[in-house]
Amino acid sequence: MGDLRSPVQRDAPLAPLTSIRVGGPADALAICASFASVSQALAWAADAGKPVAVVGKGSNLIVDDAGVRGLVIRLAGRLSSISVRGERTLWCGGGASLPRAVQRAAAAGLSGLEFGASIPGTVGGAVAMNAGAYSSDLSQVLDWAVVCDATGRRKVGRDDLAMGYRTTSVQGDQVVAAVGFLLQPGDADAIRERLAELRSHRRSTQPQGVRTFGSVFTNPEGDSAGRLIEATGLKGHAIGGARISPVHANFIEAGPDASARDVIALMDEARRRVRDAGGPVLHAEVRYLHPEWGIGAPPLAEIA
Ligand SMILES: Cc1cc2nc3c(=O)[nH]c(=O)nc-3n(C[C@H](O)[C@H](O)[C@H](O)COP(=O)(O)OP(=O)(O)OC[C@H]3O[C@@H](n4cnc5c(N)ncnc54)[C@H](O)[C@@H]3O)c2cc1C
Repeated sequence: MGDLRSPVQRDAPLAPLTSIRVGGPADALAICASFASVSQALAWAADAGKPVAVVGKGSNLIVDDAGVRGLVIRLAGRLSSISVRGERTLWCGGGASLPRAVQRAAAAGLSGLEFGASIPGTVGGAVAMNAGAYSSDLSQVLDWAVVCDATGRRKVGRDDLAMGYRTTSVQGDQVVAAVGFLLQPGDADAIRERLAELRSHRRSTQPQGVRTFGSVFTNPEGDSAGRLIEATGLKGHAIGGARISPVHANFIEAGPDASARDVIALMDEARRRVRDAGGPVLHAEVRYLHPEWGIGAPPLAEIA
């Protein structure tokens, strides 16, 4: 087995790479700035039989308190750049900030991505999650994506990614390394005005200046997870250093001493209370990085 070609940090703390800031270190963190270096890092991990995961802005991720005994990849350089190509295409590296991509589109008078203004992830993470807001999501503007895995890379169309409500076919050992959005020509001032409106709406409805990872659970058909949790009286309920947000019950806020265990225990409590009140079983929107298995769903208690 050869060496990793990308710059690598050993025993790298992951909590600061996430918005909720819990969890332990990764054995290795590779910073990849080209398609070739991403594929090489993935192949290296596959050969070594080690778990691998890509972390974007960590804005929808719980890292286990034990960290990960494998390789974490972050995208940088060209793979975090943004450019307008031709009349209507916005080219973004998978590591580019989604709010920056939204700004770039607005400056070019391109419309369609505005809903992403306050989604604090990377473009690659947002595609992998099919992030969305205000009845739009990335499936509506994605044209193509370059997906890397241990065998190399391929360019796929939107229809190849099985994009549904906060779900896609992108696997934990695959990396969305670049993306093309197909946008509509629009008026730059009108787009900027819409962005200001959306940001102001966010500020009045979601907790600000605290550590969260956005919505904890997906909304069940025809209802909202926040409403269901609030109805159980859990707003403000704390376990260890984490609490259900007093502002929005589908958000968890982490204090300085919070652990991944506290966050997961709160998720269990919210699901159990909603179920005991006759509601549906809530499903996690947030992803979880397991020490040995890589990316998956958080380890929540079984609920009938
Ligand atoms: C305050 C706040 C508000 C939010 N509001 C919204 C919202 O309105 N709508 C919404 O949908 N989400 C929202 N989120 C959640 C989050 O911002 C999105 O899910 C975002 O798309 C995650 O991107 P990320 O780069 O942070 O991914 P991460 O959290 O780093 O990772 C999430 C998942 O994506 C995978 N991933 C990351 N990058 C890549 C890549 N390049 N290739 C393949 N897989 C990748 C990870 O392995 C992991 O499985 C919010 C979060 C916060 C903190």
